[in-house]
Amino acid sequence: MRIPAWLLLAGLALPGLGFGAVAETVSGRLAAANGVAWTYAYDAELRDDRVWVRLGIQLIPAKDVTVPELARVKPGWEAAIEAAWSGRFALESPAGQLYPIWVDVDLRGPTFHHTVVVRPGRGRTDQLDWHLLDGPELVAHEAGHALGAFDEYPGGSLATADGVIDPASLMTSDPGPGCTPRARHYEKVRAWAEGSAGAQGWSVVPWVGSAAQDTERVARQ
Ligand SMILES: [Zn+2]
Repeated sequence: MRIPAWLLLAGLALPGLGFGAVAETVSGRLAAANGVAWTYAYDAELRDDRVWVRLGIQLIPAKDVTVPELARVKPGWEAAIEAAWSGRFALESPAGQLYPIWVDVDLRGPTFHHTVVVRPGRGRTDQLDWHLLDGPELVAHEAGHALGAFDEYPGGSLATADGVIDPASLMTSDPGPGCTPRARHYEKVRAWAEGSAGAQGWSVVPWVGSAAQDTERVARQ
């Protein structure tokens, strides 16, 4: 999207309009210590005092998966990924302003950031190959790679410089219901904020929002 010159000028004139005012596609390559590499990508923008991350995933049924079978799993997967990654952390600006991070999974398109093949039953699931019986934590783990997170278990695709082993992290092997994201998993969102704001000193901090306030805000979307 081309940004009109008048908007850039308005952004200069009105403090606060600069950061996140226009949805931007954030993407790049991650290369793990084991040689595995993949693409992270999503759209990010600031809306209603939140950072919205739109993760467009095109699910393609393998030839032995029917369209109704795929349609049956889609709502649960979408809800699982959004619940896992939304409302847990916030971006904190250098001035101390908090912007909670919300992930909006878009399986309908028309534009997508990732294409995933869905196969029958269970099997070896990775970022781009899912299976109909994959549970909520597993698809949320794979979405974590799409958001820019590395694995955090021995033998996984660990970060090269500071590889972490964390069995309670969503990025562990075969994560269970208690496994959750960590601030470090939002590093690419943090880096986007610094670029968008044109200032260093942004961090990812735990978000403890008011549930009532959140419900009210979501209802207004
Ligand atoms: Zn993984």
